Amino acid sequence: MKPLKLLMLEAANRGGGPLKTEPRKGYFNDAYRLVAPMVRGMIAVMANTHSLEEIKIFREDLSRALRSRTELHEISDRELLKICEHIRVLWQYLGGNGGKGYRKPTHKILDEWWRHYELSDSKRWIISYETRSFFPTEMNFRGLIATILFENRMHMKSCSNCKRYFFGRRRDSKYCMAPDCQLAYNNERQKKHGAIKKRVN
Ligand SMILES: [Zn+2]
Repeated sequence: MKPLKLLMLEAANRGGGPLKTEPRKGYFNDAYRLVAPMVRGMIAVMANTHSLEEIKIFREDLSRALRSRTELHEISDRELLKICEHIRVLWQYLGGNGGKGYRKPTHKILDEWWRHYELSDSKRWIISYETRSFFPTEMNFRGLIATILFENRMHMKSCSNCKRYFFGRRRDSKYCMAPDCQLAYNNERQKKHGAIKKRVN
């Protein structure tokens, strides 16, 4: 996992406080591009985390990957587990649904995450008045999860083989990248290919 590089750098520059100047043009696009893969990876792990024991392992792995201070230090194991449960609800109702699932209970969960901290809290949000945009900082996990998850909702899948939740590369992905599941995927493809061949001959 990559660290939340850009946000961390910015956080270091502003000494954890608000940005001293307006974010430069393209800042939010760059922040999204750098942060999204890491947060997507984190969300996929959380979607498959079911117990406090697993949360402890997740926390250790993530602190090792992130190194610097993030909101992870302020969230309890129970709160993290609750977020995992909510991620699963979103996966069921919102995943691959073309946004049709954006209603109760998905709306309620996302709304709660986005509103968890006031937009005026400069430790949790970076705001650009010039471009009328805002982005969650490394001290706002719920905001980061809500933003990245909603943006990637069309790629939220559950694996046809191992049943785990994963982000598909394509919108029609059915199997996760685990070796066993890729084997199952190849078998299915070969079977399909064989059936087509039979029909053609
Ligand atoms: Zn799988």
